[in-house]
Amino acid sequence: MYKADYHVHTNYSLDSVTPMEEQIKRAISLGFNEMVITDHHEADPSSQEFHLETNISDYINQFNRLKEQYKNHINLKLGAEIGYEARGRDVLDEFINNNPFEFIICSMHSLNGQDFYSGNFFAGKTKKEAFREYFHAIKECIDNFDNFDVLGHVDFICRYGNYPNTDLDYMDYREVIDEILCQLIRNSKGIEVNTSGLRYGVGHMHPRFDIIKRYKDLGGEIITIGSDAHRPEDIGADYEKGRQLLKEAGFKYFTTYNNRKAKFRKL
Ligand SMILES: [Zn+2]
Ligand SMILES: [Zn+2]
Repeated sequence: MYKADYHVHTNYSLDSVTPMEEQIKRAISLGFNEMVITDHHEADPSSQEFHLETNISDYINQFNRLKEQYKNHINLKLGAEIGYEARGRDVLDEFINNNPFEFIICSMHSLNGQDFYSGNFFAGKTKKEAFREYFHAIKECIDNFDNFDVLGHVDFICRYGNYPNTDLDYMDYREVIDEILCQLIRNSKGIEVNTSGLRYGVGHMHPRFDIIKRYKDLGGEIITIGSDAHRPEDIGADYEKGRQLLKEAGFKYFTTYNNRKAKFRKL
């Protein structure tokens, strides 16, 4: 069974202190065949500290050195997790196209400069209002931005917000979620199974099983599995559960990438 962790951070992301080599060694020890390093690059001009661009040549050089050093043990790929913001969109293509990325995750961590993590985004909004705004922003994102391979943690919003129960009911947002999934399928884009939801106490992976199943039922085929590890101990976390979940949803294959081109591998 081919094992590939498709969402991994290192100390090139502000929210991780783990050297790239530590993540690689851990993946090798767990028997992973392939791993992509996907450090953060937030598009919003106000998130300077999350701009991978600042030290992109170090990132690439270090990656290339380690890829060569460990080439007999693991297939390493260079990637990035873009944090989409409409107001920073214009320069994203240039950043992505000018660097040798093999895989791009497009995520949304903030909206109009208000990040979900700190809770600013939710102030004065009911849960339904906030969640609906998030999904409509995702729709706006994929209508206007095409330079990515998979949409990251589609229901990320349900990790945050000071509500008694932050989980979401797919039926409450069905229309907009279906529009997002159909648009991704039309554009040959995928989603990811991001296992980190289990570690953050959300009670499920991102996205929820019903959204994964819906993507499949609508004709979606492109799906990666990623731990979103920021620490070595989280590399490959719940990978087997993720694989089983995909099987339950009806998938026979998961996806890896070579130079931004999808490759299907048996689950
Ligand atoms: Zn993310
Ligand atoms: Zn991430």
